[in-house]
Amino acid sequence: MTDADPYMRERYDMVEHQIQARGVSDPRVLAAMRKVPRHLFVPPPLARAAYQDRPLPIGEGQTISQPYIVAVMTELLELKPSDRVLEVGTGSGYQAALLAELADRVISVERLPGVAEQARENLARAGITGVRVIVGDGTEGYLEEAPYDGIVVTAATPAVPEPLIEQLAEGGRLVAPVGSRDMQDLVKVVKSRDGQVSRFTFGGVCFVPLIGRYGWKEEGFP
Ligand code: SAM
Repeated sequence: MTDADPYMRERYDMVEHQIQARGVSDPRVLAAMRKVPRHLFVPPPLARAAYQDRPLPIGEGQTISQPYIVAVMTELLELKPSDRVLEVGTGSGYQAALLAELADRVISVERLPGVAEQARENLARAGITGVRVIVGDGTEGYLEEAPYDGIVVTAATPAVPEPLIEQLAEGGRLVAPVGSRDMQDLVKVVKSRDGQVSRFTFGGVCFVPLIGRYGWKEEGFP
C-alpha cells in the first residue's frame, strides 16, 4: 500500500477472493482489474466500500456493478488489443476503464447527461485515456464508429437490441443481461465470419433497466 494508492491491497484481495476464486481466469482481465482504481469510480463517501462484493449506488438511481459480474462480462467479450468496443450504459465509467486496458478503442454511450459527465471526470481522475463517452440512447448503438469487435450492454434489456447485432463486426462478440426488469440471464451473441449469429446463455444477474427505443419504456410511460 502507498499513499498514492491506499486501496491496492483491497484491490488485489478483491481479484483473488471474489473473481479468481469464482473461476474468472483470463490473465489480461485479472491484470486490468488489479490495475484500475475502482475507488475513483464511486462517490467519494463510498470509496471504502468500492472493493466489496456488491454493486453500489452512483446517483440518479444508477449503480456501479458488482466487481465479479463486471469481470465475467469482460471475460466473455474475449477482447484483443486491436479491438474496437462499444459499451451501452457508461454508469460510473469503471467497466469502460477496464475495456480501455484490454482493447484499442472504447465508445461508451450513456443515456443520462449528468451520469456521463461524472464518468468523464472519473476516467480523467484515474488517468484513463482511450474512452469516448457519448450521451444518447445506446439501444440504437453508435453507427458512426461501427462495426465493433465487442459490444457490452450493462443494463437489463427485454431482448438484444437489433441495431447492436447489426453493428457487431464479423467475428464479434456481444454480451448483455436479457430478461425481465427484475431478473435476467447473461446472453452472449457471436457473429461468425460469414455473418451467422449464435447465442449462448449464462447464469442469472440483476441489472437496472435499459431504457430506450429498443429497451424498456421509462417507468410511468405507456
Ligand atoms: N457499466 C457501468 C459501470 O461500470 O459503472 C454500470 C452501468 S449501470 C448498471 C447502467 C447504466 O445504463 C446507467 O448509468 C443507465 O443510465 C444506463 N442506461 C440505461 N438505459 C440506457 C440507454 N438506452 N443508453 C445508454 N445508457 C443507458
